[in-house]
Amino acid sequence: SEPVLEIRNLNVGYGLGDQAVRAVRDVNLTLHRGEVLGLAGESGSGKSTLAYGVTRLLPPPGVITGGQVIYHPGNAEPYDVLALSDLQLRRFRWNETAIVFQGAMNSLNPVHKISTQLTDVLKAHDPKMSEHSRNVRAREMLKLVGIAADRMDAYPHQLSGGMRQRVMIGMALILQPQVVIMDEPTTALDVVMQRQILGQLIELRERLGFSVIFITHDLSLLVEFSNRIAIMYGGRIVEEAPAASIYRDALHPYSAGLLGSFPALRGPRRELTGIPGSPPDLKGMPSGCSFHPRCPKAFDPCAGNIPVLGRPGTPDGSSRSVACWLHPTEQPVGL
Ligand code: ATP
Ligand code: SF4
Ligand code: MG
Repeated sequence: SEPVLEIRNLNVGYGLGDQAVRAVRDVNLTLHRGEVLGLAGESGSGKSTLAYGVTRLLPPPGVITGGQVIYHPGNAEPYDVLALSDLQLRRFRWNETAIVFQGAMNSLNPVHKISTQLTDVLKAHDPKMSEHSRNVRAREMLKLVGIAADRMDAYPHQLSGGMRQRVMIGMALILQPQVVIMDEPTTALDVVMQRQILGQLIELRERLGFSVIFITHDLSLLVEFSNRIAIMYGGRIVEEAPAASIYRDALHPYSAGLLGSFPALRGPRRELTGIPGSPPDLKGMPSGCSFHPRCPKAFDPCAGNIPVLGRPGTPDGSSRSVACWLHPTEQPVGL
């Protein structure tokens, strides 16, 4: 299907010069219209940095040092988000691509009713909309995310964490963006709640037709809810494939390790094993494949040569990509 967001050779660092930390390295990733793309990886692998980079919300000293983020509005010519002016960017952020951050539910304004917080978003972006229309729209949206009518005039502290998170989702969706990025929206919630909220988002996606980038540590959630999964390690995408392919047949040893470190979806609960060793130091990355010091399958070429993300020569190789010397690739992605 057609792309809605194409991330091309994106590089993001914190700081400049010798002390810079390269947190996102040569990332190439495409989000297709209507799909849910899951992004997984250990803490510090660069998931949030990628999300902030794409929406240009990087906190200082974060800087985009190269690449393009091509957005396809659908009804107009594609453009590079990284080339937008501040004014265009403000419009882009809510109307085209909305983001729900880690722990965002705690960023609701404590002194305003939740209904007011939604109408304020509408007011800021469409000053011509009548007060009545704003109210109707806000209430519709709150209903859509499962907030009962008698809770709509509540203050944030009167709601549970799960409800506040749903309010945040409603705020992200109220201007009907094409792309919604969720950055670990469920960290603070229990597992049952995580599933519910994700399930609800997927339902909304089917009704409203947006695309989702969903970022989490929990690969088992992604296997269940996303169409495709991209795995990050040390700032790079090391594997990208349909969710079912990752689950059945992860090609990269790191992806396989991540799968092993979460309990199985069905069947007996396994021990949470984790991957031995620790994530790489971004300032002193291992040579070659940055995973090689931890990789159970490392062999001759691994320590000396960086494997490039490309299409592997497997039967379903056209729909997936991997960066690992075990899987010689035929066609590099993005070069
Ligand atoms: P988590 O799963 O914990 O949210 P993540 O995959 O989202 O992790 P990022 O937050 O993107 O990872 O961080 C990527 C790297 O960038 C980390 O090594 C981190 O130390 C570094 N980093 C993040 N923010 C800053 C900052 N403000 N200044 C310097 N380095 C930073
Ligand atoms: Fe392991 Fe080598 Fe593949 Fe890296 S390139 S994941 S070290 S086998
Ligand atoms: Mg993060």
